[in-house]
Amino acid sequence: MSWTKGGAKLQLKIGHLYPDLLDLYSDRGNVIILEKRAHWRGLQVTVDQISVGHEPRLADYDILVMGGGMDREQGIVAEDLQQRRENLQEAVDAGTVIVAICGGYQLLGHYFETSTGQRIPGLGILDIVTVGAKVRMVGNVVGEMDIAGVKHNIIGYENHSGKTMLGPNATPMMRVIKGYGNSGEDKFEGVRQGNIFGTYLHGPLLAKNPILADHMIELALRRRDLSVHLDILNDDLEHRTNAKLYKRLVE
Ligand code: GLN
Repeated sequence: MSWTKGGAKLQLKIGHLYPDLLDLYSDRGNVIILEKRAHWRGLQVTVDQISVGHEPRLADYDILVMGGGMDREQGIVAEDLQQRRENLQEAVDAGTVIVAICGGYQLLGHYFETSTGQRIPGLGILDIVTVGAKVRMVGNVVGEMDIAGVKHNIIGYENHSGKTMLGPNATPMMRVIKGYGNSGEDKFEGVRQGNIFGTYLHGPLLAKNPILADHMIELALRRRDLSVHLDILNDDLEHRTNAKLYKRLVE
């Protein structure tokens, strides 16, 4: 299928934020999955790497992906993000799909306070605060997430010290069946706020859960007024692997 708008071939624009600083557990895999799955459906896809010193208009992107990082890298990114506050807010208002993992997720909130008490200011785009605990939350995660009205099992891997608390404007992305999630206390994982997905799940998340990748691509196309259902791809391998993991971790 070939996608056109006003006669021109439609391009899906993906921006990969801080690939050099935030890439724990190969978070960049999420970008590759989005790119490939859109490409396999006949879309033209471009991927731009955006880091300190590059200042493109973020609202021009259909999808922005930001990975996780350790506290030191987060400090550098936090400073740079402050310069992009309005630029990123414009993208949020324009409906850009934003995927932020772990360290990136924390920095979209009001602040991240490390376990040694250093407070790194975030952007306050997500209504969350994060405080580092002494004990790290590490391991495989199984969650249950509502995607377009249907419940799906999501599999991922987490490794964080930060405990994230949600304010009244943030809705959890999923319910935790196995693992810690946001804080290990309330059985919730991540945040969904409009087209923003913040989560602790590395893995990379979208390689393990193609349904979520497709949902994000559909949301990105919808922002271009293209209400579409993507062609089904053969995801048997992912389904079989996830079923095995579910059995091992939950049953
Ligand atoms: N430094 C943060 C924490 O440990 C984020 C870690 C990560 O991105 N995996 O909470």
